[in-house]
Amino acid sequence: MEHQTLHFPHQEIRVGISQCLLGDEVRFDGGHKHAQYCTKVLGQHFTFVPTCPEVGAGMTIPREPIRLVNMNNEVRVRGTKSDEDYTEALTDFSQQAVQRLTGLSGYILLGKSPSCGMERVKVYRDNGYRSDITQGGVFAETLMQTYPELPVEESGRLTDPTLRESFLTRVYAYRTWQTLEETGITPKALLDFHSEYKPLLMAHSQQAYRELGKWLAGVDKTTVEEKAKAYLPKFMAILKQPASRQNHTNTLMHLQGYLKNNLTSAERQNLRQMIDNYRTGMIPLIAPLVLMRHLFEVHGCEYAGNYRYLFPYPESLAIDGI
Ligand code: SF4
Repeated sequence: MEHQTLHFPHQEIRVGISQCLLGDEVRFDGGHKHAQYCTKVLGQHFTFVPTCPEVGAGMTIPREPIRLVNMNNEVRVRGTKSDEDYTEALTDFSQQAVQRLTGLSGYILLGKSPSCGMERVKVYRDNGYRSDITQGGVFAETLMQTYPELPVEESGRLTDPTLRESFLTRVYAYRTWQTLEETGITPKALLDFHSEYKPLLMAHSQQAYRELGKWLAGVDKTTVEEKAKAYLPKFMAILKQPASRQNHTNTLMHLQGYLKNNLTSAERQNLRQMIDNYRTGMIPLIAPLVLMRHLFEVHGCEYAGNYRYLFPYPESLAIDGI
């Protein structure tokens, strides 16, 4: 169907992942942290690119656990038993590894790890007690600094419906942008892209969407390359802003307007009830999205922007983490 081509990239979606999440026994104790939602659900849509930074840095399996330690105001990576310093090995590996990780559309990390944790990893004092400081793991921080627009999330947080929706939406939007880059960005293609993402961007911030539209206006052949380069961080930053229930509700009601003359009274009532249930927090966003998607399929769709919002990612990915 045409909208499937429009919405979900047919190209491979490559997503980086902490290797232990795939069930590989690479942890310090010889175990794993198999995330079934990743392998059984996301794995049907993504090609995972696994990395274990600690093994990559030459550490053995099993190995002594490591932790982040604040030593004279410098955070180092130290063994918990031997006090051996792994900072250089882990930093060097991370810097080299992220250079090879091109073409990814997202990254899933194991939280709390001094290597892979995205944020809030404990930092200890050199006397062994916890400090008040937390930060990201060494590999994770290198990754996020190198690819600031890359959608990154921790596996444990994907069980939260709102965080999962946000991550999946950003992965698919980012992949759509990568496809645009692969096919060559023209002024028209860039403006069409922005227009197609209007409802989705407005659900995150109406003001930011409008400002970005004004900034983009007037793009031409001589400026398109520079504008496209600067557009992506702005676009991804808007999607990263939490979309409020109120904004989503407004967007859903706006899209409802495209359907209103075509719906039966039962359909209209059902849709209104579903949007209201979402507004009051009884159900996740995917529920009214799926219903509206069905109604647009049955009754037709006016423009691509509806699909970018209604089909942010395949609905089979929306189930709760297992
Ligand atoms: S370094 Fe990362 S991938 Fe390797 S075991 Fe630890 S959390 Fe998993």
